[in-house]
Amino acid sequence: MNCFYHPDKAAVGLCKYCQRGLCVECASVIDDVLACQSRHEDEVHQLEQLTARNLFQSKRVASGYMRNATFYGLVGVVFAGFGLWQLKWLGLQAVVFIMLGGFLLYAAAANYFEGRKHK
Ligand SMILES: [Zn+2]
Ligand SMILES: [Zn+2]
Repeated sequence: MNCFYHPDKAAVGLCKYCQRGLCVECASVIDDVLACQSRHEDEVHQLEQLTARNLFQSKRVASGYMRNATFYGLVGVVFAGFGLWQLKWLGLQAVVFIMLGGFLLYAAAANYFEGRKHK
């Protein structure tokens, strides 16, 4: 493969933006990838920034789900545990606590599986 701009010169790589072959003279290195010198430098820089930001966001979303799952799980266990412990004395009121705890545990599981999807 030869350079798109210099058909007589061998290409050293592809521009990440337009996928054209580039020789040493035409290649510009932006964030570890190649771009057409003074043509697609800005475009490639933006592309790189976009991918970096997307990775960061999906990671943040996944950790957010995991944090929710931990929180719901802990509160759910406390509620359900309290309800079971008080069941003898509180009766129906304790059942409400157990149901609430169960709902929170369900929410925790839902968040957990949702978080794993984003990994
Ligand atoms: Zn060239
Ligand atoms: Zn280009």
